[in-house]
Amino acid sequence: MTAPAKPPLYVVENLRLDMVLPGGPLALLQRSDRRVLNILDDISLQVERGETLGLVGESGSGKTTLARAMLGLLPISSGKLSMNGQELTPGNMAQLRRATAMMFQDPIASLSPRMRVGDLVTEPFIIHGPRPADRAATARALLAQVGLPPEMAQRYPHELSGGQARRVCTARALALEPAFVIADEPTAGLDVSVQGEILNLLADLKEQRGISFLIITHNLAVIRHTSDRIGILYLGRLVESGPTREVFRAPAHPYTASLIASEPDPDPRRRRQELAIKGEIPSLLRRPSGCEFHSRCPIAEVICHQTRPSLRQIAPGRSVRCHLAG
Ligand code: SF4
Repeated sequence: MTAPAKPPLYVVENLRLDMVLPGGPLALLQRSDRRVLNILDDISLQVERGETLGLVGESGSGKTTLARAMLGLLPISSGKLSMNGQELTPGNMAQLRRATAMMFQDPIASLSPRMRVGDLVTEPFIIHGPRPADRAATARALLAQVGLPPEMAQRYPHELSGGQARRVCTARALALEPAFVIADEPTAGLDVSVQGEILNLLADLKEQRGISFLIITHNLAVIRHTSDRIGILYLGRLVESGPTREVFRAPAHPYTASLIASEPDPDPRRRRQELAIKGEIPSLLRRPSGCEFHSRCPIAEVICHQTRPSLRQIAPGRSVRCHLAG
């Protein structure tokens, strides 16, 4: 008899997240659309055990908001979040916090300037318990896991380079042996050579410890390097998802195709096919009618202005939100 398959590590189902604008609790009661900003809607995704899911989008696409909602740092308006097959509720969020970790976009800003590195990497034990018997030895072991020497424990955050700070944040994220790590722009602000080191470190951690990662970034090269599957967010909706290699080989949504086409080519002798995205991402306060990408889409038709497309499956494991794709 075969053992029953384990559920995915983390599942998001039909998530919607609204934010009330200043002066808005009353407006929320009154259900006035003008005072309630819809940030995310109709988001469904799952992260399997030991896989890396990459989430891509321009600024304003809602990717950091989604990450924070998945960690229970922002309340969702509707939908369901589950981990290990168990729905997450306010009652069991503490359990979630122990099993997940977040690597923030600006590592130095996320570290308290008055604490030494050794105390920073072991602080999660002080917050969540149990306290380590030998805090200094635990700090040295955590630093070794991310390739930092033991003497680094005595430094303060302002004494670290960008790459060292990113490694310290990674060590801190690993302290409680999480099953799931969300990394927000893990290579932002780093030199290209250091970017490669950090991405290799994350890949090793996934390989050696089976940690699942959600990597959120606007940098497609990071996704290519790290992610088994990719999701593309536009104005708070998932517009395409699928295995990374397949999406890069044959993007189905015009937005995905535009992002890939405008990716810098490392070889300056080769010019990328031009399919640049027109205009700015629209304001969340004035979402376009129909398909929300129609004002920037190079192939929009009449239906696109009138009818909102839903996310539909076009192949096993591949979905797209576009009337004309597939
Ligand atoms: Fe473009 Fe229409 Fe597809 Fe939207 S639905 S992405 S406007 S073709």
